[in-house]
Amino acid sequence: MSRPRAPPSRPGRCRAPALAVAAAAALAVVALPGSRGFGPMAMALAAGGGRRVLVTGGNKGIGQALCRQLVAEKGFKVLLGSRDEARGAAAVEAILAKHPECKDNIEALPLDVASDESVNAAKERVASKFGAEPAPLYGIVNNAGVGFNLPMADTLAANLFGPKRVCEAFLPLLDASEGRILNTASASGPNFVNRYYAKHGKLLTNPEVTWEELEAFMQEAIADPAGREPYGLSKACVNAYTMLLARENPHLKVNAMTPGYILTDITRGMGATKSPEEGTKAALHLLMGDLEGNGRYYGSDAVRSPMDRYRGPGDPPYVGP
Ligand code: NAP
Repeated sequence: MSRPRAPPSRPGRCRAPALAVAAAAALAVVALPGSRGFGPMAMALAAGGGRRVLVTGGNKGIGQALCRQLVAEKGFKVLLGSRDEARGAAAVEAILAKHPECKDNIEALPLDVASDESVNAAKERVASKFGAEPAPLYGIVNNAGVGFNLPMADTLAANLFGPKRVCEAFLPLLDASEGRILNTASASGPNFVNRYYAKHGKLLTNPEVTWEELEAFMQEAIADPAGREPYGLSKACVNAYTMLLARENPHLKVNAMTPGYILTDITRGMGATKSPEEGTKAALHLLMGDLEGNGRYYGSDAVRSPMDRYRGPGDPPYVGP
């Protein structure tokens, strides 16, 4: 799992976590196996080590829960992306109401993933505030997304072209030696591939898929959406894009995951019962765990899953190419 990190290079002003991080890291070096020199909370805070993570769509739902856990329980610094500035500020306030000690370690970042202008402005803001060297970001979590019953073009704009736009803008600010990118997919992706696999051949699960192939597939779907469910299609494309991005950036850890079936505005009224706080297990693993591969898709139980069929929590892991 996670290993203790050195204290942050730029010490945070969030005193409790910063001290806990430093103390846990120091104790981890000297503690003997079986000794009770440091507690689980200090070790958890040491995992983040004060490194900075950007979470898109952090103003509500699973994104907000992840931001809270990262800053308050895992010792990360968090940029909480929100397309609406006021909603972003309110989300930061809500997190700080519970964790006032973290006030210098989380801030809202206006960021509409569907807009070049907004994403570029967000990138400039991060670069000018934190500098580009050393790279200010350890992680990018592409969480922002839209749900069901929207037109194909709008769905792809947020769920696929959005993460791509964010990755391309922020890649220069991501730590080249240990940076991680997480794309939020969904079980709807593999389900879509399973249903349409015969028709679309291996395009969506081909580790060698190119952007040109993927884009042509999406443009065709936008032009002729009949018979293709936009949300599932967009999430299948997120998985394909994840393979492509990982291939092009072998120095990074780039993976996709599903949070599970979680009660948020996307699923309201559809029978989901789990809270957003329960939808972060895979994301936390992909940010902090020891990962054996790259360009992979993980289920909500943080276990590797296939991209062409559903694997439920607790089912055996997928092993394959
Ligand atoms: P949610 O509560 O509706 O949150 C979606 C977030 O994405 C909101 O913050 C929303 O911002 C943001 N967003 C949408 N379009 C955006 C854009 N163009 N730019 C920036 N932010 C944008 O839903 P959620 O369930 O937490 O969804 C989070 C992610 O998990 C999504 O990618 C979703 O597809 C995925 N997912 C969810 C489930 C589930 O069961 N809930 C299952 C599988 C995958 P606004 O508040 O401004 O709209």
